[in-house]
Amino acid sequence: MSSFEPVIGLEIHCQLLTASKIFCGCSTTFGSPPNTNICPVCLGLPGALPVLNQRAVELAVRASHALDCTVQQTSVFARKNYFYPDLPKGYQISQYDRPLATGGTVELETRGGARRVRITRVHMEEDAGKSLHEGFADSGTRTHLDFNRSGVPLIEIVTEPDLRSAADAAEFFARLRAILVAIEVNDGNMEEGSLRCDANVSVRPAGAEALGVKVEIKNLNSFRHVQKAIEYEVERQIGVVGGGGTVDHETRLWDAAGGRTLSMRGKEEAHDYRYFPEPDLPPLTLVPDWIDAIRAGLTELPDARRRRFVEQYALPEYDAGVLTASRELADYFEATAAASGNAKASSNWVMGALSAKMNEHGVSVAEVPVPPEGLAGLIRLIDAGTISGPVTRDVFEKMYTTGQRAAEIVERDGLARIDDQSAIVAAVQSVLDAHPGPVAQYRAGKQQTFGFLVGQVMKATKGKANPALLNDLLKRLLETGSA
Ligand SMILES: [Zn+2]
Repeated sequence: MSSFEPVIGLEIHCQLLTASKIFCGCSTTFGSPPNTNICPVCLGLPGALPVLNQRAVELAVRASHALDCTVQQTSVFARKNYFYPDLPKGYQISQYDRPLATGGTVELETRGGARRVRITRVHMEEDAGKSLHEGFADSGTRTHLDFNRSGVPLIEIVTEPDLRSAADAAEFFARLRAILVAIEVNDGNMEEGSLRCDANVSVRPAGAEALGVKVEIKNLNSFRHVQKAIEYEVERQIGVVGGGGTVDHETRLWDAAGGRTLSMRGKEEAHDYRYFPEPDLPPLTLVPDWIDAIRAGLTELPDARRRRFVEQYALPEYDAGVLTASRELADYFEATAAASGNAKASSNWVMGALSAKMNEHGVSVAEVPVPPEGLAGLIRLIDAGTISGPVTRDVFEKMYTTGQRAAEIVERDGLARIDDQSAIVAAVQSVLDAHPGPVAQYRAGKQQTFGFLVGQVMKATKGKANPALLNDLLKRLLETGSA
């Protein structure tokens, strides 16, 4: 069989982080009792009129800037007509031939090198309600409808078919999520459906220009599902085309339990939706200064932040990548570095002991009981030489458990490093008295017993002896018999 190349484009539905819906004042809160956040507008009752939520437009423009798109001064809402039980007014208000923004790019690091993924368009639309097929006594015979989600503001982000593998598609989706969360446009919660992905997948003989017939896989709500569904679909299509058949132009669903895609329906052609401009909303006209002000106020994007961490803090690429994978972790690191004055130590503690604790307890960085100033306090004590060696981990453990500051714990538990020469000499002398065998061996030329004796003195001082001073004094007492 000759080899085939997958061609993949994504359409991502992203819920905008507004308090109220896109065309009415109903709450967007997730998890409210069914049909409690509804009104005549979002139920689509006759005569109800939509009023556009300005905050939704602002967030959509912000996302468009972050994806390097051109924001159009004028865009037009359109009715997308179709019948579905969770869409009682018989049409969805979306944007069609005049979307909010066009022509962006996202840079992606993949295993095969850097890749540019072009963004075709970003348009605004309302979400539909939700059909509940399970969870009720009569679910065997009836479908229930919850309209709380109806009218929640979305943007749809459409890419060009620039992706060439399932892994790259999953990586792109992850990158997009990181961007949308960093700019506070989306909460990133894929389990609650605030970010959903449809994948357009086709295959063609390697080297061919023309695109194959594409299949749309709907509603992929995790990076893993994106990757697995596309992997399956690519193999399926290669099997069809390689066997001399043709791929049907259709919509398919990902059956996660079965690990396969299933045919859902033949693909409606675009003209079937009978789009026309929404008569109840005027064209959306944005003032150029307002568009520019939103761009100017854009926070730093994850990639730029990673590069800055390498330059500003002299961190290894690896550290910068781990720390900027989540905005909260990056914020925590920067606050710690600023308060401690030691970026590399801050990075080591955040990626090491702190992340280990977060994993162990299954908590996010926002829930960690040690604030950045607290961790910085520990780092300052270490840098000042107040504590050292294994004691530092003990102090961190106690900080995490009690929420107390490092200095308090060191003071209370007497953990400060022992720099007093006479105290260390006394400890060394008692160890030498207690271990005449190793002492004699050392003096007879068996240097390896030195490490054992150091360990004994550390044990006697509960790990608090100044290590350099201890080494020095032990050597002198062993070799000359006096300090
Ligand atoms: Zn409403």
